[in-house]
Amino acid sequence: MSFFEVIDPVFGSFVMGNAPVKQIATGFDWVEGPVWFGDANCLLFSDIPNNKIMRWTPDAGVSTYRAPSNYANGHTRDLQGRLVSCEHGARRVSRTEHDGTITVIADQFEGKRLNSPNDVVVKSDGSIWFTDPHYGIRTNYEGFKAEQELPCNLYRVDGDTGVMEVMVGDGNCPNGLAFSPDEARLYMADTGRMHSDDPQHIRAFDVTDRGLSGGDVFHVIAPGCADGIRVDEDGNVWSSAADGVHCIAPDGHLMGKILVPELVSNVCFGGRGKHQLFITGTTSVYRVSLNRRGVQMP
Ligand code: MG
Repeated sequence: MSFFEVIDPVFGSFVMGNAPVKQIATGFDWVEGPVWFGDANCLLFSDIPNNKIMRWTPDAGVSTYRAPSNYANGHTRDLQGRLVSCEHGARRVSRTEHDGTITVIADQFEGKRLNSPNDVVVKSDGSIWFTDPHYGIRTNYEGFKAEQELPCNLYRVDGDTGVMEVMVGDGNCPNGLAFSPDEARLYMADTGRMHSDDPQHIRAFDVTDRGLSGGDVFHVIAPGCADGIRVDEDGNVWSSAADGVHCIAPDGHLMGKILVPELVSNVCFGGRGKHQLFITGTTSVYRVSLNRRGVQMP
């Protein structure tokens, strides 16, 4: 069998026919939020319903990194290499300092509690951008069932002042997000409210000195929806989908797919050369080597 579906012939040069999509960890309920720590040669990822952050290393395999995790979902690293996490249970975005203590980055807006922060990126100016859909408060499965107090927004928190502002307020359920390599563009996945006529797309915003503009639909994912997304160093967008990972060119056309046997939630680049893609898919984590590299992050 082939692990790949080549749609644009260029995608054939992104993948290697003899590189497997390998299951490296399994037995979880809903894995999300993969983030690579090159300096520790490890991957962290969330098992949301089991209230854990797990760690995987090539030599030692899987162990528990943090439990309880406050039903953590998406993660990233900031410019100092610290872990930044979205926590459904505590309804906040937090930072794990180098000494292990936790700092709250955001847990409310204009006096109202956040919903359940889902995914997060840090821009090169140190600002923290995160999405806040309601998935973690709809049921007790991925957090604690609660009343929604705020719309499902995309926020920016200034890294110096902590000032927080709504950057996208007209989404349905904003989810994954990623900047283009030059940070001139912000991609935002919208996974909707799981109704059949809801958005299953990625929007693209132009990033200006004063904020965001544009926001047109960049690509519609099918089958499934774009939950987590990451960008490679050439600006291609790698998105989760129901049948695997879709690779979308900067002009919005689908170039090819990595086929995965479980519903995929998120991806991240990592490994020695930033050339491996780690894929969280329902009960398992998968890894595949590519002839592409992720955007350079700390
Ligand atoms: Mg997500």
